[in-house]
Amino acid sequence: MIPPVLPTYNRAPLSFVSGAGSWLVAQDGGRYLDLGAGIAVNALGHAHPDLVAALTEQASRLWHVSNLYRIPEQERLAEALVDATFADTVFFTNSGTEAAELAIKMARKFWYEQGQPERVEILTFEGAFHGRSTGAIAAAGSEKMVKGFGPLMPGFTQLKWGDHDALRAALTDRVAAVMIEPVQGEGGIRVLPDQCLRGLRQLCDETGALLILDEVQCGMGRTGRLFAHEWAGVAPDILMVAKGIGGGFPLGAVLANERAASGMVAGTHGSTYGGNSLACAVGATVMEIVSDPAFLAAVNRKAALMRQHLEGLVAVHPAIFEDVRGQGLMLGLKCRVAPAEMVQAGYAEHLLTVPAADNVLRLLPALTISEDEIIEATARLDRAATRLEGRG
Ligand SMILES: *Cc1c(COP(=O)(O)O)cnc(C)c1O
Repeated sequence: MIPPVLPTYNRAPLSFVSGAGSWLVAQDGGRYLDLGAGIAVNALGHAHPDLVAALTEQASRLWHVSNLYRIPEQERLAEALVDATFADTVFFTNSGTEAAELAIKMARKFWYEQGQPERVEILTFEGAFHGRSTGAIAAAGSEKMVKGFGPLMPGFTQLKWGDHDALRAALTDRVAAVMIEPVQGEGGIRVLPDQCLRGLRQLCDETGALLILDEVQCGMGRTGRLFAHEWAGVAPDILMVAKGIGGGFPLGAVLANERAASGMVAGTHGSTYGGNSLACAVGATVMEIVSDPAFLAAVNRKAALMRQHLEGLVAVHPAIFEDVRGQGLMLGLKCRVAPAEMVQAGYAEHLLTVPAADNVLRLLPALTISEDEIIEATARLDRAATRLEGRG
């Protein structure tokens, strides 16, 4: 019999009743060290006092009014994002998927208004993940996501990750935009090298294609810069943001430069909840904390420490781990066993991790994790790996 909750997830038999920082308390009272952070959502950990204060203050005053009116919290967050990035303008969504939808619409509308309505193609990459809407699955194109859901939205071509010649050949005058994650999350923590992102920017400039970066998972301080593309010193035309920006409250955003956004005039797009007072009060507080250079410097220090400890684990458990990959606190352990087995062994050590494609175990701790907690996490990963070795 189908359960009351539609069974689209293979859920672990775990449920949590409270959390603080990098720790979660399960229904049976057990304390779990959280290296998943709700898949990079709880960027400031659980129950961060500043976020609790921002949410409860806003909740007692005003929840929602509609985008028919000006929303001061939304304007405040938009201004903070514009001040800190390449962007001239921001649209708020409730999720990464909705950010993908708007990014696609914005790119096509741009070329329509430029008098090139045939310029609709969007190039994406194998291993990509942009969400679960009909448009976002067509964009990513993997069989696992699209099978049975056709007919798919046309206009997407998936290229091989790292195939520069294929990219050059595909960049015709029908291409509206190239859409890529600077660090693939679901695809297995695959980092796009800085020189590739710079080369991609240059190819887009030469051919006119807009560059859409999907930083839903790798943005908001995760890699040690506010946005991952900053490492390469280049800017996109359109940027998708979600996950960490709400710190656990549903919030996403599309950031764009003025030119790319020029087709999106009044009446062309909307959202009932997008950018509502509650979400933006929380988002503005997340943004204040994460955009502080001292906070980002701490992320980089902790990332270096964690990476060093993970390299040590690979050396000690060569039958379980192959290498460490990632950037900042978006880290992956490439496994020689199924990553799901490591996730299971982690549960036994009261440690939460997340599997990804390409045989990778994802480690996405709260950006506020302490050095002691990183050392504790390594000890638990060590014991989990030893469990798997003992079984073999
Ligand atoms: C999670 C994710 C999305 C989709 O976000 P939702 O909030 O789940 O809709 C899109 N792109 C990337 C890179 C993601 O990691």
